[in-house]
Amino acid sequence: MSTNHLHDNLGPGLLEEVAPDVFSYVQPDGTWFINNTGFIVGRSGVASIDTTSTERRNRAYIDAIASVTSQPVTLLVNTHHHADHTHGNYLFPEATIISHTSCREVMLATGIPDYRAAFPTVEWGDLEFRAPDITFEGATSIHLDDLTIDLFDLGFVAHTDGDVLAWLPDRGVLFTGDLIFHGGTPFALFGSVQGTLDALDVIENQGADVIVPGHGPAFAGSQIKEVLNSQRAYLQFVQEAAKEGVSAGRTPVEQASRTELGEFQNLTDSERLAGNLHVAYREISEADYEWVGFETAISDMIVFNGGKLPHCLA
Ligand SMILES: [Zn+2]
Repeated sequence: MSTNHLHDNLGPGLLEEVAPDVFSYVQPDGTWFINNTGFIVGRSGVASIDTTSTERRNRAYIDAIASVTSQPVTLLVNTHHHADHTHGNYLFPEATIISHTSCREVMLATGIPDYRAAFPTVEWGDLEFRAPDITFEGATSIHLDDLTIDLFDLGFVAHTDGDVLAWLPDRGVLFTGDLIFHGGTPFALFGSVQGTLDALDVIENQGADVIVPGHGPAFAGSQIKEVLNSQRAYLQFVQEAAKEGVSAGRTPVEQASRTELGEFQNLTDSERLAGNLHVAYREISEADYEWVGFETAISDMIVFNGGKLPHCLA
């Protein structure tokens, strides 16, 4: 059965003004390819942080922006290369798109990826490829009239090679991209488990009032420490499981099947454990582990998931 779940099962994206003129657009339920975006409204234009996955979801996001302002999106930041954050680039023809140098390189190398093997039910729509226009490494700022949006990388691989955070110093709002999956399983398959852990320290030190993660609800105030610590706990749990697997001579998927998820079983997309373990193995220097490539790691997630494809409602 071919079903588009956008408004049927999950409800529309939730638009919230998290600070004056700064909006988060949080798409329930935050699972595979159902990411968050956000935008900042200036006098002469709008800056968007990321786009989303399917054509239909992108058009719903554009409608959400239009419900707030008639200004066009003139600046668009890609926090990283993943399809759910970049597929909509082409639907913002008036925008100058900014990303990390590595993000653009990966996008150019992969184009619009074919996800049919692991995600056969998604109706992507009529997607067109559009790469970022401006790239940077380190830090830069973009200016929307009087409002400054500071963009910075981490200087190391975390969720991907080329993660960018967007920080609004005058508003105390930080957009982290997929360095955080609030309520979901962190996913380091395209990056680094240790790097994702280290990124959480950078995020904490930013001292934000409000954080808009790449997936799951935005959070603020005293919740910040709680969310960051729960993400840390999962990533450390993956590292411990990897150490155990390496010393027992098990493959990552064997180790995954022997690992009790315990407190982490309620995080969405828990099959990511098998993919994350491949990366954690790679990061143990004494492990006799050879990187198997993304396809095999994704197949292992399906094996660990009892042969079921990932649960995807995008
Ligand atoms: Zn991602």
